[in-house]
Amino acid sequence: MIQEIMRETLENARPAVAQGEVASYIPELKKADKNQLGLSIFTMEGERYSVGDTKVRFSIQSISKVISLAVALELCGFETVFDQVGMEPSGDAFNSLVKLEISDSHPSNPMINSGAIAVSGYIEPKIPFDQMLTFTRRLCMDPGIGLDSRVYESEMSHISRNRAIAYLLENKGVLRNDVERTLDFYVKMCSLSVTAESLAGLGLLLANGGVSPETGVRLLKKKTVKVVKTIMLTCGMYDGSGEFAIRVGIPSKSGVGGGILAVADKKMGIGIFGPSLDEKGNSIAGERMLQYLSEKLKLHMFEA
Ligand code: GLU
Repeated sequence: MIQEIMRETLENARPAVAQGEVASYIPELKKADKNQLGLSIFTMEGERYSVGDTKVRFSIQSISKVISLAVALELCGFETVFDQVGMEPSGDAFNSLVKLEISDSHPSNPMINSGAIAVSGYIEPKIPFDQMLTFTRRLCMDPGIGLDSRVYESEMSHISRNRAIAYLLENKGVLRNDVERTLDFYVKMCSLSVTAESLAGLGLLLANGGVSPETGVRLLKKKTVKVVKTIMLTCGMYDGSGEFAIRVGIPSKSGVGGGILAVADKKMGIGIFGPSLDEKGNSIAGERMLQYLSEKLKLHMFEA
């Protein structure tokens, strides 16, 4: 039954693919096939469902901001993380530096580039990238996650804007770690290759309050998971987060690689892959799938 609804969800969203474009500002991402579409659901009952291109590896991009934030909260604590990074939706594009420059404010939140670069600065000295990779594999229940070195190199050679953000953060005293090491860490995290299934695995862990549904081991503290899910709800879908929260009502985070991680709390993790993006950077068919699923399965968090 759920598999059938998922198939219907995918087919219903498929026409939207034509209205979007794959990301092109990182040259390697241009190579994605914009027609690919996949949807995975992992439930609290232990069932795993997948339809479409759910085993295709793609680059996690901004969805890694969720993992970095979770690790920062675990390693540095809430007060330290939010001392220099805000908790408010920015209403600006993910790579904007407008607000940073015109006021003496901190990054608006950890889901935009400036906030995630600041967060990377907290954790880079505390945890080597290899350990982040191992931990990401455990969080996603996917030992196949690796660094896509082509995406990494492509992004590193088109890094001017993020470098500008990072130096501005350093200038404001927000980023106290070495700027180049921080950027390298940030880009490596964005260049991890995942599948829709890995995102469903991570979604399930978050839906389950931080305990691995596979092993029963707690990987993240309850408070960390609570904060992460709330930030996903308010800031996870770029400057489309408000409308998405109303229409879909499922805490989610998207990335320009075409992925969306969604958490139907205490029910299921949802992973989406659809590299055709709308003008805000969200998977265009992915958003449509989530809206459809939310209505069909009554997943809106404020469902009456
Ligand atoms: N690595 C990308 C950047 O920094 C992440 C963008 C995204 O997925 O929002 O521009």
